[in-house]
Amino acid sequence: MEPMDFNRRDWLKLLAAGAAAASTASRAQAAAPVNTKARIVIAGAGAAGLATAARLAQRLDGASITLVDARQQHYYQPGFTLVGAGIKPADYVVSSTGSYVPAGVQWLQERVAEIDPEGNKVVTTSGKTLDYDFLVVATGLQLEYGLIEGMEPGLIGQHGIGSIYNGPQAAAATWGLMSQFATQGGRGVFTRPATEMKCAGAPLKYTFLSEDRATRQGGRSKAEFVYFSNNATLFSVPIVSEKVRMLFRERNIQTQYNRVLTAIDPGRRIATFKTPEGTEEQNWDFIHVIPPMLAPEAVRNSPLPWTTGNWAKEGWMEVDKGTLRHVRYPNVFGVGDIAGVPKGKTAASVKWQVPVATDHLVADIQGKKSDAIYNGYTSCPLITRLGQAMLVEFDYENNLTPSFPGVIAPLEELWISWVMKTMALKPTYISMLRGRA
Ligand SMILES: Cc1cc2nc3c(=O)[nH]c(=O)nc-3n(C[C@H](O)[C@H](O)[C@H](O)COP(=O)(O)OP(=O)(O)OC[C@H]3O[C@@H](n4cnc5c(N)ncnc54)[C@H](O)[C@@H]3O)c2cc1C
Repeated sequence: MEPMDFNRRDWLKLLAAGAAAASTASRAQAAAPVNTKARIVIAGAGAAGLATAARLAQRLDGASITLVDARQQHYYQPGFTLVGAGIKPADYVVSSTGSYVPAGVQWLQERVAEIDPEGNKVVTTSGKTLDYDFLVVATGLQLEYGLIEGMEPGLIGQHGIGSIYNGPQAAAATWGLMSQFATQGGRGVFTRPATEMKCAGAPLKYTFLSEDRATRQGGRSKAEFVYFSNNATLFSVPIVSEKVRMLFRERNIQTQYNRVLTAIDPGRRIATFKTPEGTEEQNWDFIHVIPPMLAPEAVRNSPLPWTTGNWAKEGWMEVDKGTLRHVRYPNVFGVGDIAGVPKGKTAASVKWQVPVATDHLVADIQGKKSDAIYNGYTSCPLITRLGQAMLVEFDYENNLTPSFPGVIAPLEELWISWVMKTMALKPTYISMLRGRA
């Protein structure tokens, strides 16, 4: 669909849907604050931690709420893809954590070093002990470049190695290399890790965007694109995976399945992949590396992770997938990327998880029961070209759950979905941090 196809009636429908959602949200927040002396610690002040602090500050009166995070800068991570593709400058994704900390919430600028859910306390890196009645863990995840032999973040921007995940500067440096490749051509290698990861659509988006840039910048006929998937699919939702497979085929992007990047040799520009048959070497002119991702050590070394299976190895928290409440420690919740649930690990999931977890926490304080349930909602605006995207939204059961049914078709490449990703998403995200969306 071209811009002109999205007519006035469609815009009105979209606005009406937005207004209905906003009025539901404001009704939910209209209840009088609950008086309490509860001590609440929130570990991590990223998307989920800040949104949790905002919600709790609105709903509670008299609580002692402490956010613990050393990071001063806040990163709008969904924008990293845009920076890495030369669509936005690096400063588009940077703001200050302090500007989102709600009035009445204390921000302790340290990291959590230990979590002791038996003793209801956390210990910070400086040795400070914080006792709590409720703990919300929102530490996100940790990028583990070091688990790829020969790789470290300092290599991003050199030897044809890009990685948009490592932050604004890395994304900007990756754009420098990708742009060069898009002009000169060569062999482009695109990877994703075998662990759980945040925004599992980003490796695909970045491949599409690189191919589109090469087409626009003249290098396409001299370029080869190979996407290496860690398993036998391209995306966890089968219908989306199939759609991407068809688009890759149309655009002559080759796919290699069951390939996991294990080592890189920057000098020789050789990447080693683990395959079901052994190892295999691939050369690159441009490589996009997405590292393995694990829970941060403070969580991994605590009793909070799952105790069996891959989620135990990677350290994701053992929470109930509907309520985000810890299965063994009922006064502990896990929201955002740290939650060991079958879908999620997007800012869009945070938007739906936080109201549910905070509703249960507030109900506990009141001695009541909440019936709020998170259904696994995850959204991925899958950019396929500059000016086009598919707004893919789904739940735990792999049902497609479009927010604007009849207006935005989930598996169509649309200009309006591109507008959502490049213009509407950031204001919505900022509203979420402030507890208003
Ligand atoms: C390249 C890329 C593209 C993406 N695209 C999209 C998209 O299009 N749509 C979408 O919805 N989502 C997208 N995401 C995912 C989204 O940004 C994350 O899912 C979201 O930020 C998760 O929020 P979080 O609070 O769990 O983690 P974060 O926002 O990462 O915050 C975690 C915070 O915890 C802190 N922390 C870590 N360890 C400790 C500790 N021990 N003690 C105290 N604090 C700690 C960190 O400093 C950080 O501030 C993308 C992410 C990336 C990287």
